[in-house]
This record gives sequence, structure tokens and C-alpha cells, in this order.
Amino acid sequence: MSTEFANTNLEVLLSAEEITARIKELGAEISCDYVGKEPILIGVLKGAFVFMSDLARAIDLKVWVEFMAVSSYGKAQKSSGEVRIIKDLDVAVEGKDLIVVEDIVDTGLTLSYLLTNLQSRGANSVKLATLLDKPEPRINKELKIDYCGFQVPNKFVVGFGLDAAERYRNLPFIAVVKNPEIA
Ligand code: 5GP
Repeated sequence: MSTEFANTNLEVLLSAEEITARIKELGAEISCDYVGKEPILIGVLKGAFVFMSDLARAIDLKVWVEFMAVSSYGKAQKSSGEVRIIKDLDVAVEGKDLIVVEDIVDTGLTLSYLLTNLQSRGANSVKLATLLDKPEPRINKELKIDYCGFQVPNKFVVGFGLDAAERYRNLPFIAVVKNPEIA
């Protein structure tokens, strides 16, 4: 019988237990910071769907849940910084407090675009929550991460929503693919 979670081509970086505990802390922090407010959580599809689901349930406030999907133009995806909105918000965000929920910040270019775009819609505040921060490849050094789960090394990681060619999103932990050739 083949098993996905015990795939020997995966090296576990963060266990399910570690991630759950950290998300509870982030939720508690956000609950304190937004007392009396009703923030809109904006998950960036697809990668953020697992983190978004756990984070929303760790925030003891009335929250709104929205999703956006973006895609980079052309082949030079990561470095171009040109982003296209594939799925936009269903609501207006003028005067609202927004928390963008992302799976991982790498170069930071996708987030730079998204945060600027949301600010230009007249939001009262726009903050960023990411499960993972990979600081080494960062191009936009100005990008401020308000809520960060974990810093990870400059390796390609999968699991907990993150994929390799659409695989591994359902892993309950974060792992490095040892040999991408046989992934
Ligand atoms: P950035 O604009 O910060 O370079 O891009 C962030 C996006 O690139 C993430 O939302 C994710 O989709 C993708 N990405 C960056 N690093 C990784 C990684 O290590 N693993 C996976 N699966 N996706 C990554």
C-alpha cells in the first residue's frame, strides 16, 4: 500500500504539532491586537487555504473570510513582480481592517503588489500574516510581516497547503522534497 504522509522522499521540517501550537499563538496575538474590530481575513489561493482555516479558528473575534487568487505574468514568474488577479474579493474593503493570509513569503513580490493594491482600495489597515517566511531570496526588503509562523531555510518546501505541481498540499506537516526528480 502506498502512503503519501510517510513518503521517504520527504524530510519533515515542521511537524503538525509544532504548526498547530504556533498558529494558536498567532491567533491569540491577533485576537488581542484587533479587540473591538472585525478584521477581514484574505486568504491567497491556493496555498493559504490550510493555514487560513486553522488561523481563522484560532482567532476569538468576529472575523470575515475572503479569498483572492493571483498569478504572475509570463515565464519569469518569481522575479517579474507583475501580478494578475485571477479571483478578486467579493466585497468592498473601504474603511475595513484587512489581514492578508499567505502560505509563504519568498521574494515578497506577490505580496508587495497585493498589499499596495488593497491599500489603494481605501482599507483602514492592511496587515500580513504568513505561515512561513523564507527571508534569503527576498527582493522587496521593505516588506513588513506582521504575523509570522516560522522562518524556513532557502529550500523548496511542501505541505500544509503548499504544493509541488499540485501535489502534497494535503500533508499535515511542512517538508522538504529531498529529490525533486522523483517527486
Ligand atoms: P513571492 O512573490 O514571495 O516570491 O512568492 C510567493 C509564492 O511563491 C508563494 O505564495 C508560493 O505559492 C510560492 N513559493 C515560494 N516559495 C515556495 C516554496 O518553498 N514552496 C512552494 N510550494 N511554493 C513556494
